[in-house]
Amino acid sequence: MANILIVTCAKIRDINCVACLKCFKAADLKEGEFANYDSVKIVAMCGCGDCPGLVMPKVGLVMEMADYLERDIDTIHLGTCMVKANKTAACSIDLDKVKEMLSSKYGVPVVVGTHNY
Ligand code: SF4
Ligand code: SF4
Repeated sequence: MANILIVTCAKIRDINCVACLKCFKAADLKEGEFANYDSVKIVAMCGCGDCPGLVMPKVGLVMEMADYLERDIDTIHLGTCMVKANKTAACSIDLDKVKEMLSSKYGVPVVVGTHNY
């Protein structure tokens, strides 16, 4: 079971990509970047901290709260919304760098992307 935190683009989530239906569907059906897990549980979703991308402090808060609430997070995904913001808009986040920083700080795998719809 992968207990997953999805980090999302604060400018896209629930505005252009409504209700996070796509990621919930992909997780349920184990499609896209969820395809290789035995089973998937989305434990938490959070915004990136908004532009210019304060991801580290935001995820820090999420991890602290998850610990307080005794919720395991063993994998972090940077949502497809973040990938789209990076490729098609002026998002300043260096996704590969953030991936390395998160993985090194929290000792968990970090995957870039979620659904492929
Ligand atoms: S890519 Fe996923 S996490 Fe991001 S807004 Fe869309 S459904 Fe939500
Ligand atoms: S920093 Fe990037 S991912 Fe975050 S809200 Fe801005 S455009 Fe979206």
